[in-house]
Amino acid sequence: MSFKPANNIQDLQYFGEFGGVNPSISDSSTYTFLSAKTMFDTFEGNADGCYLYSRHSSPSNLYLGEALAAMEGTETANVAASGMGAITPVLLQLCQAGDHIVSSRTIYGGTYAFLKNFIPRMNIQTTFVDITKLEAVEAAINKNTKVLYCESISNPLLEVADIPALTKIAKKHNLKLVVDNTFSPLCISPAILGADIVIHSLTKFINGSSDTVGGVVCGTQKFINDLRNVNNGACMLLGSTMDSLRSASVLKNLRTLHIRMKQHSKNALYLAQKFESDGLKTVYPGLKSHPSHELFKSMMHADYGFGGMLTIDVGSLEKANELMELMQNNNLGYLAVSLGFYKTLFSAPGTSTSSEIPEHEQKEMGLSDGLIRFSIGLDDDIERTYHMMNSCMKQLNILV
Ligand code: PLP
Repeated sequence: MSFKPANNIQDLQYFGEFGGVNPSISDSSTYTFLSAKTMFDTFEGNADGCYLYSRHSSPSNLYLGEALAAMEGTETANVAASGMGAITPVLLQLCQAGDHIVSSRTIYGGTYAFLKNFIPRMNIQTTFVDITKLEAVEAAINKNTKVLYCESISNPLLEVADIPALTKIAKKHNLKLVVDNTFSPLCISPAILGADIVIHSLTKFINGSSDTVGGVVCGTQKFINDLRNVNNGACMLLGSTMDSLRSASVLKNLRTLHIRMKQHSKNALYLAQKFESDGLKTVYPGLKSHPSHELFKSMMHADYGFGGMLTIDVGSLEKANELMELMQNNNLGYLAVSLGFYKTLFSAPGTSTSSEIPEHEQKEMGLSDGLIRFSIGLDDDIERTYHMMNSCMKQLNILV
């Protein structure tokens, strides 16, 4: 694939107000105008390059948005205060009362809860499907369907969406394909593969330092303008705006994403292979045993690997909890939700990030009690980490 997402980030050039190598931070919520007429024109969207009010846009947010658009290969992007602050306005912008969404059933618990419990209040219904079964996806579409929603690699089951095939279905039925790419930045470029809108929680790999929440919507200029419209734009009116100081710091972290993703992926592949050969039930898209291993390979930018997320199943919640506590006591990572940190993070999704999904539905989708989700860190000596994890597992009789 000739599209090079990290080059696109690298090739952006910035000059700060005083010639700084970082753009100056726009630490203002409002902006002055030399003439009242220009203020009016800006309100109407007719004064390019003028800033009005920072909920609408700010120079710092635009810099970060443009860098993320360059990474995803979309015309532009709009940053938001959180991943959910990006996902919810997109769906509300695309759907009206009476509309219908087809969504993957294995998605982040917050997104699932929004679709299942919240958006029906606006008379927007969702059918949840196994996104790997393309016939089921197509069969769920009805005359009111407007959106096809999925994650490139799903949270927490690490199912892989066939983005080119879903694009075809979306085009055939005139739907917007919205892809949450939070688990696989740089590894997969959904828009290049045909998705209409790409979303990230910046909270995770992209920022990478677990010090803020943030989100982004990458799409066409027309769609991003719609989201920002002062009269009916969901981002503008729902107000989930990122602060300029934060967008400046996320932009700085974005510049090392390619180095971090390579290391996350290298470490995750190493551990996944070791865990699997030890006899643990291991799920990682980089393993040949993953049902979508070949599909992932056909979509990925090989340089960045298969991502930093893997799961193991240790049989019961009790064992999972014991193992996570022991690993934390041995300083192998943190028992914490979220992902993309320099240290490994682990949690049992059934009782944490996916707890919004009712137990019987968790079972149906294969989310078992003993599942531990790992976000593998940047450890320089992953062999040492493996040996320490292995001895924790032996201590708890998970491995003999
Ligand atoms: N999308 C995915 C795949 C996630 O894992 C998360 C959070 O865990 C979100 C979206 C929501 O992001 P945020 O917590 O930044 O709102």
